[in-house]
Amino acid sequence: MHPRNRYAQPHDFPALAKVVPGLADHLITTPDGRTSLNFASPVAVRLLNQALLLRDYNLKFWDLPKGNLCPGVPGRLDYIHTLAELLEEDQVGLPPAGLINVPAQGKRKKGAPRITGLDIGTGASLIYPILGVKEYGWNFVATDVSERSLKVATAISKFNPGLGKKVVLRRQSDPSTIFHNVIRPGERFDFTMCNPPFFDSAEAASAAAQLKWEKLGKTNGPSPTLNFGGQANELWTEGGEPAFLRQMSRESVDCASQVGWFTTLVSKKGYLKIAEIEFGRLGITTTRTIRIGQGGKLRRVLCWRK
Ligand code: SAH
Repeated sequence: MHPRNRYAQPHDFPALAKVVPGLADHLITTPDGRTSLNFASPVAVRLLNQALLLRDYNLKFWDLPKGNLCPGVPGRLDYIHTLAELLEEDQVGLPPAGLINVPAQGKRKKGAPRITGLDIGTGASLIYPILGVKEYGWNFVATDVSERSLKVATAISKFNPGLGKKVVLRRQSDPSTIFHNVIRPGERFDFTMCNPPFFDSAEAASAAAQLKWEKLGKTNGPSPTLNFGGQANELWTEGGEPAFLRQMSRESVDCASQVGWFTTLVSKKGYLKIAEIEFGRLGITTTRTIRIGQGGKLRRVLCWRK
């Protein structure tokens, strides 16, 4: 986990159940006697994330309709802190990133530059804008192709004081494009970010869910639902993550002067090679790969600029 991540210690589940009482129904006792959560249940995971967001980020309201991709808040936070460090390195005269104190929640430090990011595929949860606004006081434009997800994201933004003013939601009306239509003439973003749809078909998404289900020891019968709670359209796109990555690199060249750093999560190491080839073709030479997460959940944040 990123050294700034506030969730480095194991969660205190009984304390969280006081914030969201429904969590109490999903607590389990591990063989060594600790209280933990039934992570196999999508409802339990949604309630855990709700409790973290209400308690630690002072949200008044956060919820998702059944079946929407439920973000793991601690993992998402690693990407936000990684971006913060990347931006800090660009600010000449500042001490190395590790020495900078994390600012007070939601407040931009006096004299600190106003930062605006573009979140591609924000989902119903609005997770990255929430964390970016609350941790660093950033501003966001957040996009998605799903009208249904944007409806929920709009409700979350509207019902939480402080978020509505800092987050603008935009629908990408053409699913085959990423930056076109949403970056407008004259706009400038310090960074773009994206947790891309991984799979190339709904079947591949369900197969992965089934595998995860089996790994959790639920071998008898199919999983009752995608056990990480993802709606099929959130999890897959034509050509999967590699196609999304290629499209993003190609379009980035057209709006290169309007963006400080383009970034995206890359789920598999092999996809970096795809990006490298595409960057070579496009003449993109400034790139960075930053590893985040841990263990089986190791991911990379790929960053580039032109
Ligand atoms: N950011 C959220 C959701 C990631 S899932 C999280 O981290 O939990 C990927 C999202 O990308 C989905 O919500 C999907 O609807 C959206 N998406 C797919 N194609 C897109 C496109 N061309 N432009 C914007 N969003 C897109």
